[in-house]
Amino acid sequence: MNVNRLATATILALVCFLLFIYPDPQGILYTVLRYITFGLLIVILYQFSTSDPDTIEPITKISNPNITPSSREIDVQEDIHDQYEQLLKMVFNMVMAINENYKAAFFMLDGSGNHLTIQSSTKDGFKETIPTENEVIQTILLQEEAVLFQQSDVRDHWNGLFLEKSWRGSECVLGARVLYKNAPVGCILVQADHFSTIQERDQSLMTSLGRFVSLSMVKLDNIEKLSLDNFFHYQIANLLNSMDIQSEVHGLYEKIRDLCRSFFNFDKLTISAVEDDDKHYKVVLQDGYRGDCETKKGYLIASSVHGRGFRSTDTVESYNITEDYYETGRFEEGDLEEHPFKSILSVPVVINDKVEFCITIEKQKSYKFIDSDKNLLELLALTFGSIISWQKQYWKMHENAMHDGLTGLLNHKAFMNRFAEEISGAKRYQHSIVLAILDLDKFKRINDTYGHLCGDYVISEVANIIKDTVRNIDVVGRYGGEEYGILLINTDVEKIMLVAQRIIDGIANFSFILNNNNVRMTISCGLAEYPKDTDNLKKLIVKADEAMYTAKGKGGNLVSIYNNSSFEAKGLDPSV
Ligand code: GH3
Ligand code: MG
Ligand code: MG
Repeated sequence: MNVNRLATATILALVCFLLFIYPDPQGILYTVLRYITFGLLIVILYQFSTSDPDTIEPITKISNPNITPSSREIDVQEDIHDQYEQLLKMVFNMVMAINENYKAAFFMLDGSGNHLTIQSSTKDGFKETIPTENEVIQTILLQEEAVLFQQSDVRDHWNGLFLEKSWRGSECVLGARVLYKNAPVGCILVQADHFSTIQERDQSLMTSLGRFVSLSMVKLDNIEKLSLDNFFHYQIANLLNSMDIQSEVHGLYEKIRDLCRSFFNFDKLTISAVEDDDKHYKVVLQDGYRGDCETKKGYLIASSVHGRGFRSTDTVESYNITEDYYETGRFEEGDLEEHPFKSILSVPVVINDKVEFCITIEKQKSYKFIDSDKNLLELLALTFGSIISWQKQYWKMHENAMHDGLTGLLNHKAFMNRFAEEISGAKRYQHSIVLAILDLDKFKRINDTYGHLCGDYVISEVANIIKDTVRNIDVVGRYGGEEYGILLINTDVEKIMLVAQRIIDGIANFSFILNNNNVRMTISCGLAEYPKDTDNLKKLIVKADEAMYTAKGKGGNLVSIYNNSSFEAKGLDPSV
């Protein structure tokens, strides 16, 4: 029991005793007792006036008694911080996907706005703080697009960015700003040892990366605000933790289902996704009541209760569907008769201003979902939406970083990675792989005669011919400028001879229209086989290359197999 209450009760009892029960009000003892009681009363009054009302009676609102409100808040902050760290990790992964030799760092403005402070980096070498008056930084913060600087052009300011002084002059730094509520708050810096390693598309990738971080920061902030205000923030911290940006989308649906199971009381949970035509949605996950909908079937947004969430961005909420809504079906017209449901709480998941998903919980009986149900489901939808949109951008950028901008084929690095994967797969399953290396014959004359744009056109048309000739499982890459690599899976050189022949014939027969001229091109192809010729990846490349040069040495327009001169095929005469 509270000490103050006990003291008050004692004093009151004493007062009553003195006033009404004490037998001799004139006695000396009476006088002494009166003074003591008066003194105690003063002390109690003083206690009441100075004590904090919250400390008079602490109310334990927290379900977990081991967590005080402040430590719980710190937990949430830490979890959000983890999420922020994960975001940075993802950003750096993307930078590495662009070029693994890049060094990257993320800087944020400090409170004064006079300095940028390093938050995280892939390697040492960046200064911890950079004054914002540094001209390189100023330019980056002001420019919408990522900006590229070469050391020799900004020598004085360079030293403000990096710990070590550089004398070579060929190093580069690429910077993309990060905005928060339209104001620059930081930047991503990427350093490369030589300007020639920075490709044109890297600049636009970095611009998107800056935008991606800007968008994500706003989302993280929203989540943070909601989760700190909300009674469920402890659970939300768990939710943030349990969602992984790189996980498969179906894994995310299942996490939502598990969380819904533990948070809500529902008869059915449905996660639905809008279809490409924007007129239909399909159910991607259902839990609880069955038989009223099918996954993968397209339902009309316009005429169903479940379509309501897709029609506006507001939460759909009713405890008497049939009275509140004109639709006669939850999924299809008339289905409410067979599958009676009364209550619905459906929250749209908005990604880039468009409702992409709805998370819906329903009860068969009339049931008024409470505010905290609504808040929590909205928070769940917001978090889910953020993760999905980060994922989308992550994979899009990942794709961009892997593919060659001109031909759409895998770039050299991605091709080599695939090559290593395919070799280890072939080792495991004991099948063979043929590597084909192709190089256009006398290509330089195209650039010299018709210009670089025509050269680019030839390179991309040839890529199309190659792609159209091989199987889907085969891997095609742009190996170099006008060189292509093909990994032909689970086959041997003898079988591939025909395919290679078709490729060189396809190219020799193609009419390239260059500045209104019909121009013919030929290509030389070399083949080497794993593991017959060698089980070493690098040696296989050398051998296929050797075979390609043998073909070229014989005048080009030829397929040549490594170490096997009896297996050579001349292409069609391109002049015919
Ligand atoms: P060879 O028969 O010996 O192969 O002769 P070639 O003229 O094809 O010689 P080489 O393979 O050395 O020349 C390749 C040329 O391709 C040099 C380079 O200018 C050009 N090139 C490389 N990448 C591109 C590109 O992306 N676009 C254009 N237009 N030209 C490129
Ligand atoms: Mg060539
Ligand atoms: Mg070449």
